[in-house]
Amino acid sequence: MALARDLFPGGVNSPVRAFGGVGGEPFVVARGEGARTWDVDDNEYIDYVLSWGPLVLGHASPVVLDALRDTMARGTSFGIPNGLEVALATLVRQRMPHVEMMRFVSSGTEATMSALRLARAATGRDLLLKFDGCYHGHADSFLVRAGSGVATLGLPNSPGVPEALAALTLTAPFNDIGAVDAIMRQHGERIAAIFVEPFVGNAGFIAPHAEFLPALRRLATEHGALLVFDEVMTGFRVAPGGAAAYFHVVPDLTTLGKVIGGGLPVAAYGGRRDLMQLVAPAGPMYQAGTLSGNPLAMAAGIATLTALTPAVHAGIAQRTRALVEGLRHIAARRGVPFTADSAGSMFGFFFRAEPVRSYADARTADVELFRRFFHAALDRGVYLAPSAFEAGFMSAAHGDAEIGLTLERLDDALAVAR
Ligand code: PLP
Repeated sequence: MALARDLFPGGVNSPVRAFGGVGGEPFVVARGEGARTWDVDDNEYIDYVLSWGPLVLGHASPVVLDALRDTMARGTSFGIPNGLEVALATLVRQRMPHVEMMRFVSSGTEATMSALRLARAATGRDLLLKFDGCYHGHADSFLVRAGSGVATLGLPNSPGVPEALAALTLTAPFNDIGAVDAIMRQHGERIAAIFVEPFVGNAGFIAPHAEFLPALRRLATEHGALLVFDEVMTGFRVAPGGAAAYFHVVPDLTTLGKVIGGGLPVAAYGGRRDLMQLVAPAGPMYQAGTLSGNPLAMAAGIATLTALTPAVHAGIAQRTRALVEGLRHIAARRGVPFTADSAGSMFGFFFRAEPVRSYADARTADVELFRRFFHAALDRGVYLAPSAFEAGFMSAAHGDAEIGLTLERLDDALAVAR
């Protein structure tokens, strides 16, 4: 890590990896298989970070590796249409029929940034409404009261974002329909899009109230703004068809990432055909990418989505619920204020007695206890997200045995941490 610190800011290539939210040094990973990773000293961890979400089949999934080997043998990148793009897009649209057309990009940041540009192009409006604690990647417009590493490091806004641009981003508390209604009444005719993480995963895991997303749908339509679901985390995780299928709420545009690439760099934005027809070269809104639709990345996505059948998804979801239920049990027995929740293969917990409904709620949880718990868990071979403000992920490789072992170790970790 000393050499890494000399080469990279904070020793890392993405901030939360540096363990700033929990203190101490990150481990340096050597390999992964199934539900487990090993560090360079051969310590073994049951992994609930899973590369921050993509690895829904677990590490080094044989079907993904086989697809990569097959594809790799024919070359790695061409920058000209390839059949794998069509195959992956077809799998996406089968699961999310409202994503009528899409554009593949290489990161979630690119997807949200492009979707915002498209929303502005389509509506001829400037303003963006987002929610406190939601993270939509690191494009300038979204780095206002953002979640994930921004929340972990306690940064309100990032320097380097021009004030004039930040002024175009309005924010409201998650789950607060009254606040959204007020903003829409005041600025509605200038708002291009409402962006939301349908389940927040970047301020810890926060579920929406049943009426929240339907209300956003109604308010966006009423005021002529587009509703954008950022399903970079929730897509193919909270349900096979993502949060739109989970809640039966249809957004105008959707952004995808993580699972869609099965551990390789793939993301996408897509939605209504009339909107997507505005994207170049079909239309005037410019967006491009040298490595977009890269065959290796497409192959990993195809293998992942193909293997993630509804039955496989249901199994992971059931085991995720078992994990969360086990955690609740442990905390109750040890008398620790605790709240936890899950949807599909995503979960989260806070050291706080009452349910968390907003980023403001999340901030009242006991972060010091989380830090001690995180390290006690890591010492016992359970790798949780190194921040109180990140969701956890499960994979098809996390079986009952791994969950049982995890709960044993976390029980012990909580006894030490409290
Ligand atoms: N949107 C959401 C909801 C995310 O969780 C993330 C990353 O965690 C992003 C966008 C940005 O994706 P990427 O890190 O691939 O740029």
